[in-house]
Amino acid sequence: MGVLDRFRLDGRVALVTGGSKGLGEAMALGLAEAGAKVVITSRHADECEETAQRIIDATGGDILALEGDVTDKGEVEANVAETLDRFGQLDILVNNAGTNVRTGTIDLPLEDWQRIVDVNLTGPFICAQACLPHMVEQRYGRIINLSSIFGAVGFPSRSPYTATKGGLLNMTRAWALEFANDGITVNAICPGPFDTPMNRPLRDDPVAYQTFVSKIPMGRWGDLEELSSVAVFLASEASSYVTGSALFVDGGWTAQ
Ligand code: NAD
Repeated sequence: MGVLDRFRLDGRVALVTGGSKGLGEAMALGLAEAGAKVVITSRHADECEETAQRIIDATGGDILALEGDVTDKGEVEANVAETLDRFGQLDILVNNAGTNVRTGTIDLPLEDWQRIVDVNLTGPFICAQACLPHMVEQRYGRIINLSSIFGAVGFPSRSPYTATKGGLLNMTRAWALEFANDGITVNAICPGPFDTPMNRPLRDDPVAYQTFVSKIPMGRWGDLEELSSVAVFLASEASSYVTGSALFVDGGWTAQ
C-alpha cells in the first residue's frame, strides 16, 4: 500500500457527533472526501439534514443525518443501532459535540457548570460506551476526542471548559491503554482557535480576537481544512501506531 493510500477511508464508517456545523461539519466533509461513509448527529434534525446534503453535494458520498443529544444514553444507543443497521459497521467515532461558557468562576451558575460537564465529558463517555462493544467485536476502531488547547493549558473564566477538556484528554489516554490490544486507537485533537459558531463571540469582538491572535506564534486563527486533515490522519491506517496521543493544532499556542 502506498503512503497516500494509507490515508484513504474507503469502506470505513464514521460517526461524527455535533457534525451539523463548525469543526464537526469540516471533519465530516474531510472523512467523506477520504472515502468514508459518514453519520452526523446533532440535536437539530433540520440542521443535520441540511449539512448532510451539503456534504453529499460536495463529495457524492453516503451520508446519514441523525437527530440525537450526546447526553442522552438512549438516543446515542439508538443512533449507533441505526448506523449499524444502515451500514453494517462502525469504525470511527469522532467525539466532537461540545459547548462552552465564558463566565468568571464566582458568577458561574451551577446549572452551567453541570451542562458543560454533561456535554463535554459525559457525552463522549456515553458515545464511546455505545460504540466500543461493536469495535471490540470487529477488532478495529478509531476514536478521536475533540479536546482543546484548554485541556492542557489554562485560560481565565473557563472553569468547566478547561476541566472537561483536560478530563477528556486524560480519558483518551485511559481508553488508549484499555483497548490497545483490541485493534482500537484512541487519540485527542487539541485545537487552538478556529472560526466556528462557538467562537463567533470572540471573532466579532476585536479586543478578544486580538488577545487570542497575540498568543498564537503563527499570528492567525486556524482554517477548517487544517483541522479536518488531522482528523483524516487519526481516522486512517496512516496513524495505525498512534494511540493515547494528543495532536495540538494550534499554530504553536501550547509550544510556548
Ligand atoms: P460549535 O458550537 O460550532 O458546534 C458544536 C456542535 O456540537 C454543533 O453541531 C452542536 O449542535 C453540537 N452539539 C452541542 N451540544 C450537543 C449535544 N448535547 N448533543 C449533540 N450535539 C451537540 O463548536 P465547534 O467550535 O465546531 O467545536 C467542536 C468541538 O471542538 C467542541 O468539542 C469544542 O470544544 C472543540 N474545540 C473547538 C475549538 C474552536 O476553535 N472552534 C477549539 C478547541 C476545541
